[in-house]
Amino acid sequence: MTDTRLATTAVPVGENPPRVAARLEALWPYLAIGAAAVALPLTGDTYWGIIATRACIYWILVAGLNLVVGFAGQIAIGWVALLTLGAYTASVLTAGTATPALPPFAALIVAGVAGAIFGLVVGLPALRLRTFYFAMTTLGFATIVTQIALAWQSVTGGGIGVPGPEFPGWFSTPWGFYYLCLALAAICTWMTANIAASRFGRSLIAVRDAEVAAEAFGIFRPTLLLTVFLFSGAVAGVAGGMFASLQSYITPDAFTFDLSVLFFIAILIGGRGSIIGPMLGTIILTVLPEFAAPLVAWSTFLYAALLLLIVLLIPGGIADLIDFKNRRPLERHREIAPRPEMIGPLIGHTAAAKSLTLENIALSFGGVRAIDGLDLEVRPGEVHGLIGPNGSGKTTTLNVISGYYAPDHGALRLGGDTLAPGGAHLRAGRRIARTFQTPRLIGAASVLENVMIGGTIDGHASFAESLLTLPRHRRDERVLRDAAMATLTAVGLEPLAGVRADRLQHSELRFMEIARALMLRPDFLMLDEPAAGLSAEEIKRLGTLIVAITRAGPGVLLVEHHADLIFDICDHVTVLNLGKILAAGTPAEIRSHREVVSAYLGA
Ligand code: ADP
Ligand code: MG
Repeated sequence: MTDTRLATTAVPVGENPPRVAARLEALWPYLAIGAAAVALPLTGDTYWGIIATRACIYWILVAGLNLVVGFAGQIAIGWVALLTLGAYTASVLTAGTATPALPPFAALIVAGVAGAIFGLVVGLPALRLRTFYFAMTTLGFATIVTQIALAWQSVTGGGIGVPGPEFPGWFSTPWGFYYLCLALAAICTWMTANIAASRFGRSLIAVRDAEVAAEAFGIFRPTLLLTVFLFSGAVAGVAGGMFASLQSYITPDAFTFDLSVLFFIAILIGGRGSIIGPMLGTIILTVLPEFAAPLVAWSTFLYAALLLLIVLLIPGGIADLIDFKNRRPLERHREIAPRPEMIGPLIGHTAAAKSLTLENIALSFGGVRAIDGLDLEVRPGEVHGLIGPNGSGKTTTLNVISGYYAPDHGALRLGGDTLAPGGAHLRAGRRIARTFQTPRLIGAASVLENVMIGGTIDGHASFAESLLTLPRHRRDERVLRDAAMATLTAVGLEPLAGVRADRLQHSELRFMEIARALMLRPDFLMLDEPAAGLSAEEIKRLGTLIVAITRAGPGVLLVEHHADLIFDICDHVTVLNLGKILAAGTPAEIRSHREVVSAYLGA
């Protein structure tokens, strides 16, 4: 059923942004760095060769960590633990101190697997702990790994250490080893860039910047985070193996806290949610000490000063600095011109659209009865207005329907099915979509990407398929992108598709949120004060848009303060006061309801 509806979204879109030019614009920094890196051996300078090798190895780790820190926003500060683990795994296995000796490449693969497993273990606390608490657990893990390496003398050599793996043949020469590291670094760049441009990358940033919205669109934070920790751990393990080989001999004090800070800061100064930024950050931080060699005692101080400077002067990091596209000025007088006639084909015919019913729902916060025995029915194809003074429980009602709060008692039904209380991330699968009273957006992502978030659950490709851009991933992206472009055209925002969302005006954000909700091809849509902050003309257009949505099938529950909009487009109105229904009926009945007029609408 999903697929037939997907097919109907192939609405002619008009002009797509010229993709080849956009591709090149995004690609040139990588090509420039790659060309310089490949040509480096021509200089014949082996000293810089070693530094470049180290930069490649650091980047292998940072590329993966970037998904955790830069994209998902997790403060994983002790990631050196995974480097240590990978280094010791690869070294111990090739040295054969615990097992029969393995060939170096086999040992490297095992290091990657060990890294993946421990990445998962280090990441687990992130499901419950936030910010600094999680950061502390990663630090604790780093200490534990070092202490084990010190104590387990028979295997790791303790304080004396163990030789690192030596790769065979050409790879044992400095430049051969350099090219091996460069190739691995390039593969990691390619894979993480693939993830960044997939529904997984967008979901990670959504979890970071708009967690509630992410949940409402079916993004399940725990599996997403654990997948990324797994991947990030794997590449960190591989980086560890290469690091041990570069060092040729490893002891626990090769893995300092400074190194962990370097990885973390490389991402921060590079810019969160970017690939090229942290890559440049890693290169800069690896090379910097060479220039600051006379100041080596000051290196920690220099890092701190650099970080402070960047955070204060360019909070978006290097990525922001080189984001020329988003510095082009936007047109000043922009108009949102929706095309309601496009809505029908976009949503597809939802003959199956169902009524949403609330029965005697109640929810208290401590002593406050936010909703107190609410009955409500929203039928398919109708606009149901929910009005009432501030604090009367409107948003709370939407949150209960969204599964964000579990009601104290009462039942919630869609068609014949009971909706389980709670389970916000499951509502998207029921085709229940919503917007938020305060727009919840990903400021750093483009308008198009924000809208694509709405279609996340319709993607079929797995994380691994996206990592390698396999056909299913490419099909997902094409379908999602076309649908998002068409939806943006329908709400009248298509000229802004490529613009960062935090550059939009408030009214544009409201329409963007509606576009995101429509991407779910909802059977039921909730709008929380969509007209707040809109001009009179925009409110009129919004009204036409909402009516067009209901014509296509879904029921709409509209929370609003603008009486004109409510009375113009609603089929049915419910008035709340202190969590109870004060009145319910047709707009005409409500308009002449004595109590409503005196308590809420005014004279
Ligand atoms: P409305 O959207 O109609 O303005 P809300 O549904 O946001 O009102 O709020 C209804 C009541 O519930 C208010 O008294 C508000 O303070 C309270 N409330 C809402 N959410 C919470 C919460 N998370 N914790 C405590 N009280 C809350
Ligand atoms: Mg509200």
